[in-house]
Amino acid sequence: LSDRLGGVFDRLKGRGALSESDVREAMREVRIALLEADVALPVVRRFIDSVTEKAIGADVLRSVTPGQQVVKIVNDELVAMLGGALAEDGGDDHGKGVEGLNLDAKPPVVIMMVGLQGSGKTTTTAKLAKFIREKHGKKAMMASLDVNRPAAQEQLAVLGEQVDTATLPIVAGQQPVDIARRAMESARLQNHDVLLLDTAGRLHVDEALMAEMKAVAGVSAPTEVLLVVDSLTGQDAVNVAKNFTEEVPLTGVILTRMDGDARGGAALSMRHVTGKPIKFAGTGEKLDALEAFDPVRVAGRILGMGDVVSLVEKAAATIKEEDAEAMAKRMAKGQFDLNDLRTQLQQMQNMGGLGMLAGMMPGMKKAKAALAASDTDDKMLVHMDAIIGSMTPKERANPALLNAKRKRRVAAGSGTHVSQINKVLKMHQEMGRAMKQIKKMGGLKGLGALFG
Ligand code: GDP
Ligand code: MG
Repeated sequence: LSDRLGGVFDRLKGRGALSESDVREAMREVRIALLEADVALPVVRRFIDSVTEKAIGADVLRSVTPGQQVVKIVNDELVAMLGGALAEDGGDDHGKGVEGLNLDAKPPVVIMMVGLQGSGKTTTTAKLAKFIREKHGKKAMMASLDVNRPAAQEQLAVLGEQVDTATLPIVAGQQPVDIARRAMESARLQNHDVLLLDTAGRLHVDEALMAEMKAVAGVSAPTEVLLVVDSLTGQDAVNVAKNFTEEVPLTGVILTRMDGDARGGAALSMRHVTGKPIKFAGTGEKLDALEAFDPVRVAGRILGMGDVVSLVEKAAATIKEEDAEAMAKRMAKGQFDLNDLRTQLQQMQNMGGLGMLAGMMPGMKKAKAALAASDTDDKMLVHMDAIIGSMTPKERANPALLNAKRKRRVAAGSGTHVSQINKVLKMHQEMGRAMKQIKKMGGLKGLGALFG
């Protein structure tokens, strides 16, 4: 019984493990896909190395090629690295995504926006203010600390009107740190829950910019420091992120222009370099174009092999269905696994011992003989329970897995001997046959009908 079953499972579960050459070959394509998606080269290298290691030896599903299986593994790893799948319930998470905004601090909670000039900081600040009011139900105020770019503060004031959010009145000639102090004071006095600080950018990262960011963070003690990065900048984004990460305590990243034609490689680079969650994606110029970052969607975009991924997922679902069907058929046929046996044993103990039960059940003759041969007594029931309890769930479901090495482990775990384990397995086989006979006699009609 066990051998036959084992065979069935092999056939159902797959066609073997991924070899190193399978993986390396598929990885060549993955590598190209990642580079085309603008993932930074060092990040591609590290990612490929770590996934290669994980993929070698993994199972290949039936009806799927090794290459397709590798793509699926890469996809899953990408999703995990980007922050994991979003909750599907669409429930009351305020659309916060995997990692939402942290607004649990003494008000005014300060959110500091940093990034290069043109990355979308000012626009995103306004989008966030709107988001915080609508999704978190909190009152926000915005302040522009950008004294470099002409009319930058006016730009924020205009956006503030559009999203119905207060902005700090502009005072000419003030320096960023002083503006930040004034903004804190004002937000406190006016009972704002959240204060968004829109900082100045530069065309490139330089020391003056970093010094300014540090000073502003120093006086405002931000709860969130969000790095705003243009997803179209791809390779460059890595250096930017590295610099900011080293200088200011980032808490997250926002990727803008995800509505553009970029494949989103910057997302993976950002994750790698900053180690911080990507919290939002900007998806347009309009002020409601801000979404919770969706790792599944972005992973699909980066890899550009969505067809392959869904094909493998379909294959996995089919196999799962077939597994369930096979299991139902086994039950209907009176076959059962070691979990069932354990349940039976426990019931037997409650019913006053093995001998009595074996005597009561027709078709148990063989099982009874096996028991007699192994001079099983009621104490043995306790041992059997311990033995099955020492097995892994997989072993219980598929006793064929129990090779000599595993048997020794189970024996040690249950304080028994390998010979006793063999007895349990033998008994399981005999009882399986007995159940089949009961079925033939119509004893398990109900069960059979249940599984059709
Ligand atoms: P800042 O210099 O970092 O403050 O950048 P701005 O907020 O001024 O944005 C620069 C430009 O990018 C503006 O024209 C914005 O409308 C545009 N922008 C910002 N975010 C997005 C986005 O997610 N998608 C698109 N398509 N445009 C954006
Ligand atoms: Mg700006």
